[in-house]
Amino acid sequence: MNKLLSINNLQKKYYTKTDEILAIKDLSFDLYDGEFMAIVGPSGCGKSTLLNILTNMDKLTNGNITYYKDNLKFGYMLQSDSMLDWKTIWENVILGLEIKKINTKENLDYVSKLLESYGLAEFKNCYPKELSGGMRQRVALIRTLALKPDVLVLDEPFSKLDYQSGLKVSDDVYKIIKQEKKTAIMVTHDLAQAISLSDRVITLTKRPCTIKNIYEIKRDKNLTPIENRKDKNFSYYYDLLWKDLTYEE
Ligand code: ADP
Ligand code: MG
Repeated sequence: MNKLLSINNLQKKYYTKTDEILAIKDLSFDLYDGEFMAIVGPSGCGKSTLLNILTNMDKLTNGNITYYKDNLKFGYMLQSDSMLDWKTIWENVILGLEIKKINTKENLDYVSKLLESYGLAEFKNCYPKELSGGMRQRVALIRTLALKPDVLVLDEPFSKLDYQSGLKVSDDVYKIIKQEKKTAIMVTHDLAQAISLSDRVITLTKRPCTIKNIYEIKRDKNLTPIENRKDKNFSYYYDLLWKDLTYEE
């Protein structure tokens, strides 16, 4: 697999009026084309900060990031689907294209095709409140895909959903990401979700974070995330991650 980017000795400090907060101490890792990577770590350890730096929404303090592809595009998916309630599903999913003034026929056709492929075409003219939380998350993913990102960035994407819907939607979202051949980097506090969706999982220490471990998740077969939970190695990885997150220095 080709490298998409390398993070080299990244450090991040926040400066407030009175204080200096070291959020990220020292992080280095690579992201490969087509992989699904999960990041887990204690609350407040710097996970969202890392994603914001990676996607150029925030600046790093020290270190650097090497991007191996020109104009590498990122698409964000957050825990809130931030759907506009007064716009229809169709208007919501093409909003990004309109704002960027790239609502060409080709791009609009692509969005139609995505809605069609993932069972949402018949809801085009509905309003967000008419859809379940899980469907809204799929719509949010399609809105992100409309802009043809190379890398999907998911920050606790399913944490607002109830357990059952979270399972179902993570299966759906996983399928879409794989079929559209995207690279993904996901922050989650759900260890089972991290193991069942990912090719690799990074565990972080508490703030200021460094990398504790990087695990390559090996399975007998690559199935759906729900099926992957039944893999014989699942509990082995779960124990490793749990130990990393509960171990006190
Ligand atoms: P996580 O996503 O892992 O829960 P964050 O990356 O959001 O954590 O935050 C990491 C640390 O940096 C926290 O202690 C948080 O309070 C601090 N922090 C985040 N954003 C800012 C900011 N804009 N100014 C100052 N401190 C911040
Ligand atoms: Mg966060």
